[in-house]
Amino acid sequence: MIQKPSDKEQEYFLRQEAERLKELREEHRRKIAEEERQRLKELHYLHCPKCGQKMTTTTLSEVEVEVCPGCRGMFLDDGELDKLAGESTRGRFASALASLRRLWGE
Ligand SMILES: [Zn+2]
Repeated sequence: MIQKPSDKEQEYFLRQEAERLKELREEHRRKIAEEERQRLKELHYLHCPKCGQKMTTTTLSEVEVEVCPGCRGMFLDDGELDKLAGESTRGRFASALASLRRLWGE
């Protein structure tokens, strides 16, 4: 004989199902966010944020930086500006600027 579940049992199962659906939605949202992050990275990686051209990597005073051949913009990774302009390497910044001017044909 099949017994009808009590109201408390039904409420328990409904709450379980609601939590499971909430977890699935959250998992789906995380997956979509990660896919979007990957898509944007592949689309924009090493492209100039100003004009969109592919940036090239060059070495300025022992620091690798990305420069844009289109608009002459430069991208520095975290800490690279400090390396170029650091107190103990005052001459390095001037050297980097000279390297940039040579790179750009000035
Ligand atoms: Zn550019």
